[in-house]
Amino acid sequence: MARYSEAACRLCRREGMKLYLKGDRCYKEKCSFETRKGKIPGQHGAGKLKKPTGYALQLREKQKVKRIYGVLEKQFRLYFEKAEKKRGVTGHNLLAMLECRLDNVVYRLGFAASRRTARQMVLHGHILVDGKRVDIPSYQTKAGQWVELGAKAREIESVKNSVETAAGRGIPKWLTFDAGAFKGQVIAAPAREDVTLDINEQLIVELYSK
Ligand code: SF4
Repeated sequence: MARYSEAACRLCRREGMKLYLKGDRCYKEKCSFETRKGKIPGQHGAGKLKKPTGYALQLREKQKVKRIYGVLEKQFRLYFEKAEKKRGVTGHNLLAMLECRLDNVVYRLGFAASRRTARQMVLHGHILVDGKRVDIPSYQTKAGQWVELGAKAREIESVKNSVETAAGRGIPKWLTFDAGAFKGQVIAAPAREDVTLDINEQLIVELYSK
């Protein structure tokens, strides 16, 4: 997610919601979305906002979801195409695939305070899937697989803190977590109600279906 050079907090203000891009800071009072509430970034941010059109709403929703999961346009489109081919509701399939990304699972298990940090941990080889190192953040985890923190990473102070703080946030019910063993299991594909973020995936389906 280092691929977005723009300050992360500006993205939250642009999308009008907290995207949780900066780890622990996002859960504290100093979160700039809270302190600068209602201020759109940019030179004309304070100006009068136009009422968004249907297309603008669809576009913003797509941008928001891309930013939450740290996925670039081309890859996001590929996710959509795969989601369309799968059985079931396209929008739900899309969200399930994004949630099952290895970097997202690492974040959801609390090994990292943000998806951005989780991505770095995967890239640096700190994550094992079923005992084997996987360094591809977009790797799709499947039900039954174990995701584990490598031995070196268990000694990193920020990782230990993250695991402790994440315990307070809770683990989604499609995952289990064994804090003592620094590992968790994907027990099922995430259902729509498991994705509690404020996302209207139907707008994205409408955008790509034009
Ligand atoms: Fe967004 Fe986190 Fe920055 Fe708050 S601290 S504006 S949630 S990235």
